[in-house]
Amino acid sequence: MQKNTESPAVLFLTHSGQLGGAEISLIDLVTPYSKNGTCVVFQSGPLADRLRSATGITVQQLDVDLSYIHRESEPATLATSTYDVLKLSAKLGRLAKDFDLIYANTLKASVIGSLAGLWSGRPVIIHLRDILSYQHFSHINRIVFTLTARYLASAVVANSHATIKAYLVAGGHSSKVRVIYPGFDHLRFTRTNKDTIENLRQDLGIPENAVIIGCFSRISRWKGQDVLMKAFAQQHPTTMLLLVGAPLFGENEFLGELELLSHQLQISDRVIFAGFKDNPEALLSMCDIVVHPSSSPEPFGRAVVEAQLSGKLVIGTDMGGIREIIEHGKTGLLVPIGDIQALSTTLTSVLADSKIRIEIGLAARAFASEQFSLSAAHEATRLLISDVLRGR
Ligand code: UDP
Repeated sequence: MQKNTESPAVLFLTHSGQLGGAEISLIDLVTPYSKNGTCVVFQSGPLADRLRSATGITVQQLDVDLSYIHRESEPATLATSTYDVLKLSAKLGRLAKDFDLIYANTLKASVIGSLAGLWSGRPVIIHLRDILSYQHFSHINRIVFTLTARYLASAVVANSHATIKAYLVAGGHSSKVRVIYPGFDHLRFTRTNKDTIENLRQDLGIPENAVIIGCFSRISRWKGQDVLMKAFAQQHPTTMLLLVGAPLFGENEFLGELELLSHQLQISDRVIFAGFKDNPEALLSMCDIVVHPSSSPEPFGRAVVEAQLSGKLVIGTDMGGIREIIEHGKTGLLVPIGDIQALSTTLTSVLADSKIRIEIGLAARAFASEQFSLSAAHEATRLLISDVLRGR
């Protein structure tokens, strides 16, 4: 097959069918390739339909269950997965022969996609969206991934400098790595009108004088909703806490713990568990402040940028990708990871100061619009694909 560098046919691979940040970023990523491209989603879930309806790309959902391979998998598990991995990669290798290039969106997809690249002779780009730390990944997983990236991929894209740094510490090689920040459709975050906000407040039973603190994150222990709830419990009784998101990757137990915690802290009448929302931007517009309280370094933090694009003051934790998004005191505020008292003090001071909320919110919106545009992300990806196809 002749390489088409102008309008390449790209085979995108991703493993989860849920709508986490990596998968939502993929939707934006595939849009320019929807005509000639195909996206293979390994697991079932809402992603396949969302990809089809949002971009028109051809989607194949495989419903293969590789959930027994996970971040903390030890060598024995990886050894028993060899047959499944080889079988799937051979199948994808046959499919890849109809495409110019393979683009893997997640870690599992990267390893399987890189083998598919071997079978098909097609170049592979890996998009790294995880901090490869030893807290989250077993030693063997880090070795497998870094070796795959080094020897089988043509390029590695990271969603932040923090992600690259962790990759290099894990043993990755710097030669073919570049950062492409996710891009955002800014207009989505400015469209909500006052009536919609008023209706939402009424639907959720939020009193007129209440100030709303929002958190837009899947429910997961490392996303730090427990820290936020404890800091929130120290705030004035007219404040409300809106938690938007669901346990997407099997952390229902943690949701139960959070509900219990809201009773123990006697704030259950002031905390709203909104669940997962397909288009959270209207809820974002309703908030006065947004907190992103992750208790481990974020690889990037889409939710932080979205809050900035909505013109909100965001309080984030001072580590990982969030440091590349928030400049403390200018485009948001940073607090140390897991520090309930620091978060509580910061919340109290900004709740009392609407001027600073507006000032920082405006600066944040200007910064995020400039730094994280969809067109810049598309152009950087186009260049990368073109370089890889030309063998540069
Ligand atoms: N999100 C959503 N609905 C929700 C909660 C979150 O669509 O109910 C979206 C949120 O707007 C953001 C993404 O999920 O685009 C989360 O990405 P982020 O990088 O913040 O976290 P990740 O899931 O990648 O860890």
